[in-house]
Amino acid sequence: MFRSGNFIKRLAVNSIPVSRNSRSLGNAGQLRRTLGFRSFSEATSKPRTSNLAGYFVGAALVVAAGLLADNQGLISLRPTSAFSTSKSKQYASHEEVQMAISELRESFPEKGYVSTEPDALKTFGSSTNSYHPASPHSVVVQVRSTEDVVKVVNIARKYRIPIVAYSGATSLEGHYSGVETGSICLDMSAMDQILEIHENDGDLVCQSGARWEDINRVLKDKGIPLFFPLDPGPGATIGGMIGTGCSGTNAVRYGTARAEWFLNVTVVLANGKVIKTRRRARKSAVGFDSTKLFIGAEGTLGIVTEATLRLAPLVPTKVAMAQFPDVEHAVNAVQEILNAPDGAHIRTDSSIKQTAATVKGIFKKHGSERFEFAATQEQADEMWENRKYALMSTLSSGGDGTRVWTTDVCVPVSKLPELAYETKKDLVASGLQSTIVGHVGDGNFHALIKFHDDKELPKVSEAVHRLVHRALALDGTCTGEHGVGVGKKEYLIEELGENTVEFMHTIKEALDPLNIMNPGKLYPEGKHVGKDHK
Ligand SMILES: Cc1cc2nc3c(=O)[nH]c(=O)nc-3n(C[C@H](O)[C@H](O)[C@H](O)COP(=O)(O)OP(=O)(O)OC[C@H]3O[C@@H](n4cnc5c(N)ncnc54)[C@H](O)[C@@H]3O)c2cc1C
Repeated sequence: MFRSGNFIKRLAVNSIPVSRNSRSLGNAGQLRRTLGFRSFSEATSKPRTSNLAGYFVGAALVVAAGLLADNQGLISLRPTSAFSTSKSKQYASHEEVQMAISELRESFPEKGYVSTEPDALKTFGSSTNSYHPASPHSVVVQVRSTEDVVKVVNIARKYRIPIVAYSGATSLEGHYSGVETGSICLDMSAMDQILEIHENDGDLVCQSGARWEDINRVLKDKGIPLFFPLDPGPGATIGGMIGTGCSGTNAVRYGTARAEWFLNVTVVLANGKVIKTRRRARKSAVGFDSTKLFIGAEGTLGIVTEATLRLAPLVPTKVAMAQFPDVEHAVNAVQEILNAPDGAHIRTDSSIKQTAATVKGIFKKHGSERFEFAATQEQADEMWENRKYALMSTLSSGGDGTRVWTTDVCVPVSKLPELAYETKKDLVASGLQSTIVGHVGDGNFHALIKFHDDKELPKVSEAVHRLVHRALALDGTCTGEHGVGVGKKEYLIEELGENTVEFMHTIKEALDPLNIMNPGKLYPEGKHVGKDHK
């Protein structure tokens, strides 16, 4: 199944990546049929039939290059011993959890807010897209406002019950799994309102459960020539995107969640206090950037309830697909284009036409055997959707009962061919079939490894482990965009060094001394021997 040389190349990256049929790929999709979202299973059971789909099903490498309130005293700033936050704190007993549930029911008497229905507890506490151990939650509370979140956090803190935010449920590393001793799932998905649009200022204020696709659709429907460029999995929400420090196919041009796309966030801290990290001004030099503290924090430092998003101007977009004899040729071609004066910043229709010719020339020079330019917007949308739905194509290609472990690493771009070759060799030697997709302009690499039953799981897990070590040996990272969750935390010390991880723990301990905010994710546990950063 592993065929080298199929690439998708997006020119003048900037889309409104609005799919006409929005599909939520996480568990949330299964629970939100009332909102008109197709569920994961519906989406996967209908394989895409475009003439281009064949290039994506089992393709060796599809590269999206993107030229294309009280208890205030709980906050303590004392220095902490290494990795102590992950030590088991004294969490609530079963009886105390039941008392907390009663208190939640009293606080939210309206129907539909508090659920202890077993299916919901399991669905909200585990992901169909990850295979890390997970426990069901004890209770799911659907919140509608910052005040609701404060109420839940205060009850969680009073009884010392872990609290786990759940939004689009598209994360892939066990990020929102329940906690064995009992946990409160904070369902943020109903906090999906756009609160203000400031067209002249190029920004927008929304609740954290708003989906990036819906935001872009609303802007388009209103005729506002702006969009939000971060584009992770279909169905992902702003809160989850901040939580995972996401990026996507547009990153090569617009950067990642770590850049300046979040002007301000409203956060409920573990002590129940509400903070806003900034105001709406584009720039601010008021101290260090506390917004960034919450980006990639995976709900372990606070719950984001609102965000002010910076928007980008819409520019014309074109999509093309090119095929190369091997990964190295493709990487070199993309790098030559990205290092050109216009690089990823091609702006107008006429410049796109000119640049398309240049790109075609560069691709040819680097051995491209096929270059297909989308003639219409429909063709472009279809080509691009094929890339976005590579997971579904992979699932469909494996027949009934196929499961897929999706993993993500990132290396310096020049190392991508080596990573791809070695990984391909390893997967073949392990007898595993996989689709490999990536973002060649960023050196970001995903393997979508197919398997059929639990017996095969250890083999897959070991292949993922070797892939991560391969990436780290190439001066890369264990995750380019999907985040750490449960699945990648064991690599943090090797990647960052003990001192950096201890620094992260110090911040966690200061903000959440009871370790109630999404425990068991992100921070490695125990005392590990690792090497410090070079
Ligand atoms: C098909 C597919 C394609 C994907 N492609 C990409 C891609 O290109 N790029 C990419 O980066 N990712 C990608 N992903 C992964 C996923 O879409 C991202 O990780 C996304 O950012 C998760 O958002 P979410 O709303 O689904 O978050 P969730 O899965 O609901 O939560 C993610 C984490 O954030 C925390 N969290 C959620 N809401 C809040 C909040 N309000 N406050 C604080 N913490 C919160 C949760 O507790 C959890 O730890 C893909 C996933 C799929 C299934």
